[in-house]
Amino acid sequence: MVASEMEKLRELSFEIGPIRPPSEGGSSSLLIRASRNCPWSLCKFCYGTPYNREKFQLRSVEEVKRDIDRAKEISELLKALAKKFGGLYRLSEIINPEFLYGKEISELDREELKNFESIVNVYSWLRAGARAAFIQDADSMILPTNMLIEVVSYLKQVFPSLERITCYARAKSLARKTLGELKELRKAGLSRLHVGLESGDDDVLKYVNKGVTSQELILASRKAKEAGFELSLYWMPGLGGKSMTKQHAINTAKVLNEVNPDFVRTRRFVPRKGTPLYEEWKRGTFELLSPHEELREIRMMVERLEITGKLCFDHFINPAYKTVLGIVWLFKQDYDGYKMPEEKARVLEIIDNGLKIDESLYVRAEELSQLSTL
Ligand code: SF4
Repeated sequence: MVASEMEKLRELSFEIGPIRPPSEGGSSSLLIRASRNCPWSLCKFCYGTPYNREKFQLRSVEEVKRDIDRAKEISELLKALAKKFGGLYRLSEIINPEFLYGKEISELDREELKNFESIVNVYSWLRAGARAAFIQDADSMILPTNMLIEVVSYLKQVFPSLERITCYARAKSLARKTLGELKELRKAGLSRLHVGLESGDDDVLKYVNKGVTSQELILASRKAKEAGFELSLYWMPGLGGKSMTKQHAINTAKVLNEVNPDFVRTRRFVPRKGTPLYEEWKRGTFELLSPHEELREIRMMVERLEITGKLCFDHFINPAYKTVLGIVWLFKQDYDGYKMPEEKARVLEIIDNGLKIDESLYVRAEELSQLSTL
């Protein structure tokens, strides 16, 4: 009996895109790919490289629904197996390439890898309580509203346990949706949007070719909040280099204060290979901040911050220093970060203490830029 269930599991796969926000990884969100890649792919610091610069494609609603059905079949099989094995956690012994295919993970062919990733995603999601789903890829707001509503509604219908459905949204696409459309999406069950603000400064936004102005960012974000979405805005310390550090910090705080997002997520700028900004840095036309300069920039932003949401540093690239015992991150890495304004003084104190640590001990952006896992 177990053998037949394992056999069926090996036949079920659905498509998973390359990235999701770390917080969605942390909550083991079910990953449903409604489109492929990034429709913009021109931000100088990213350039669509997480998606290998591949062309943007919409997937059909039928295709996406089929994937949701496969995820459902996988979850039912895993639940049935869990009953036989004495609990979901015991399945970890069989969900490995050795048991499933008699091979090492590096030996799996494309189809086996897709199958394995699908099973692992559903399994982790079940173990985390089957509460969250993330709709991929880089800009789900570019999808026609009726299509996105159909996908979200179907997802909720098939998995009633879902409490949170989230996606990435480009501010430009968000701005194009009417308040009515956003309310419809919210009503269908989409609940949190992850938006790359990067900077609130128009010179920085223009320089990095974000394709959006600070005013558009404010209007789009406010509209999303008015429609009832939880909003995660990402900002990138260091993105203005040495020449724009002050205006980057001050104007980012200004935009964040105007929006008052639920989460401000900090992603320090690290030059990424294959992007124009990496080339500019290599040519010497863009100057990276030193670790202390980064901290001073973060301080300048935080001391002006007047939001009531959470300030998070939930990524390994954020400021860290080396000790004999290993790397120590300056800020806590959890997905809920620091509650503002209650913990603002605490964050400023952490920064001030961080500035007392010798700069040579810090992990520099230059070092991180050489990592293949970036
Ligand atoms: S919109 Fe997002 S994914 Fe697309 S290029 Fe810009 S940062 Fe990258």
